Amino acid sequence: MEPTARIYQDLTRILVTREEIAAAVRDLGRKITADYDGRDLVMVCILKGACVFFTDLIREVDLPVTTEFMSVSSYGSGTSSSGVVRIVKDLDRNIEGKDVLIVEDIVDSGRTLSYLVKVLEQRHPRSIHIATLLDKPARRVVDLTVQYSCFDIPDAFVVGYGLDYDEHYRNLPDIGVLRPTIYE
Ligand code: 5GP
Repeated sequence: MEPTARIYQDLTRILVTREEIAAAVRDLGRKITADYDGRDLVMVCILKGACVFFTDLIREVDLPVTTEFMSVSSYGSGTSSSGVVRIVKDLDRNIEGKDVLIVEDIVDSGRTLSYLVKVLEQRHPRSIHIATLLDKPARRVVDLTVQYSCFDIPDAFVVGYGLDYDEHYRNLPDIGVLRPTIYE
């Protein structure tokens, strides 16, 4: 029995497999390596959801990057964005003049990132772009440019590969749709 087999019972289906994720992360790493060659790149992990994606992605980027971690509150234990965003943990270092790449797990309404980009722009980085593992374009309510996205997914609540429901399921190696009875 695989160690995570028990939590698979809480999914209605697997949406993205670990093999598909690994291939997409490798491709994205190559793109970032090419696009940021010669730049002073700071990769910013948005905790906690992006942590698994981030740690895989930085190892696919063949450049002298620096890393930062930021934590914002968005969902609590529900499944839809409140639109209220609060910085729980800020960056440790100054980003003025640097090329910032925000690494996020999923873009849903876009409110969280739209807010974050505005906050970070006030610190005068040279550039600021977004890389997300998952995107739900059908759910967008704000105008947001996402430069790098690995997978467009339908409007369903997903967990795994860092994404949680009430702090559970982050350790699932694949991404799956959570059984609605778990949160309804
Ligand atoms: P937005 O501000 O774009 O509506 O929400 C972004 C945040 O909502 C993500 O960083 C993530 O924490 C959470 N979120 C949105 N959709 C999902 C989902 O399907 N599953 C999980 N686990 N979190 C989600």
